Amino acid sequence: MRVFKFGGASIKDAEGIKNVYDVLQKVGYDDVLLVVSAMGKTTNALETVIKDYFEKSSALKASVQEVKKYHNQILLDLFDSECPAVFEDVNKKFLELDYFLEHNKSTNYNFVYDQVVSYGELISTTILAHFMNYKNIPTTWVDVRNLIKTNTNYRDAEVDWALTQENISKNIQRNQLNITQGFLGSDPNNFTTTLGREGSDYTAAIFAYCLNAQSVTIWKDVPGVMNADPRYFENAQLLNQISYREAIELAFYGATVIHPKTLQPLQKKEIPLYVKSFINPLLKGTSVSKGNTLEPYLPCYIVKRDQLLISLSSIDFSFIMEEHISEIFSLFHQFKLKVNLIQNSAISFSVCVEDKFDNFKEVNAILSKKFKVDYTEKVTLYTIRHFNDTAAQMVEEGKKVLLKQLSKETMQIIISEN
Ligand code: ADP
Ligand code: ASP
Ligand code: MG
Repeated sequence: MRVFKFGGASIKDAEGIKNVYDVLQKVGYDDVLLVVSAMGKTTNALETVIKDYFEKSSALKASVQEVKKYHNQILLDLFDSECPAVFEDVNKKFLELDYFLEHNKSTNYNFVYDQVVSYGELISTTILAHFMNYKNIPTTWVDVRNLIKTNTNYRDAEVDWALTQENISKNIQRNQLNITQGFLGSDPNNFTTTLGREGSDYTAAIFAYCLNAQSVTIWKDVPGVMNADPRYFENAQLLNQISYREAIELAFYGATVIHPKTLQPLQKKEIPLYVKSFINPLLKGTSVSKGNTLEPYLPCYIVKRDQLLISLSSIDFSFIMEEHISEIFSLFHQFKLKVNLIQNSAISFSVCVEDKFDNFKEVNAILSKKFKVDYTEKVTLYTIRHFNDTAAQMVEEGKKVLLKQLSKETMQIIISEN
């Protein structure tokens, strides 16, 4: 069996859905499982719904309406008024969402988040499955929440591998086209959970692992994994082959083209991962598999924007010792600040963090009681794997470098954007 993942960008409109059909015609669809994300930016739109819901904002009705309108337009573009069943099925999902928003009593933000945001994938897969059937490709719609079991860590749930393995082995039918949702799972009480933003790649890997799949292909709006994000680097080049180890490193440092959790399950069973263009599906793209580190061997650039550079020194000029560092880290952990770089000197300790959940104000208040805290907001962290002088010069040229760190394979540079 092959596992294919289609992300939001590939199905952002009716043309995108039709293109999935074209891709399947070209590459085959017998014995395939499609893992599908929400359409376009639907997850972001549903995040606005959740925010409006918790703020009891008068904008809630309009933000829900926007999600409905977007999907209804795609339905009209795809089916006109033929195939009433798809209109009914999608409408049913919207009614469920309305019902939840009206009747929910839970004040747990993360719980509510998962119940609401999941409609993006539930609806996209409903539309896609109907479209395939409409085009005479028989398709089975699978509710992933009956298969991927997780704990109750809403928004970043951890997979119960044993239960998930059992469910997937028992329930996925081979030799047909299956369609299921990326990003979702369910907890022991069968409430919906999610695996973290951009988690659909990970879902594809979970299925591939449990099914002993032949390969995973993630279909992208780029030709494959490149040595830099082509949105920011004009001369980005395609990488034909990357080892699992190297791909894990690139994803770890923030190459957003592959979700970092995706690679480990695949590496364990040596299942190859192909990253290919949904615009030119017959091109080879990138193969992540056992083998060469990187082919061609080029410096790889990874950019992380909107980082926070924090420098801590002790108020009395004493050394920053292990006990301080462990205290600082447990605080970061508690407030979900993700540490991307650390540098230590005798009396100061610098960290580059990502404050996804806007918690730094609180952390700063606590730290300031013990340390002198200096910080610079909105810095950019550049990572160059397999760096050379030319590569470093290119990144630094004309910019204000705040910090630089080297290891054998990797150079990291923090740049001030002001
Ligand atoms: P999906 O729709 O599957 O979620 P994403 O938008 O997450 O797709 O990923 C595709 C995007 O990743 C590309 O449009 C590209 O801008 C970006 N990207 C970042 N780093 C790289 C890289 N090294 N190679 C290719 N694309 C990259
Ligand atoms: N729809 C989810 C997100 O946008 C999951 C994914 O696309 O991978 O984060
Ligand atoms: Mg993505």
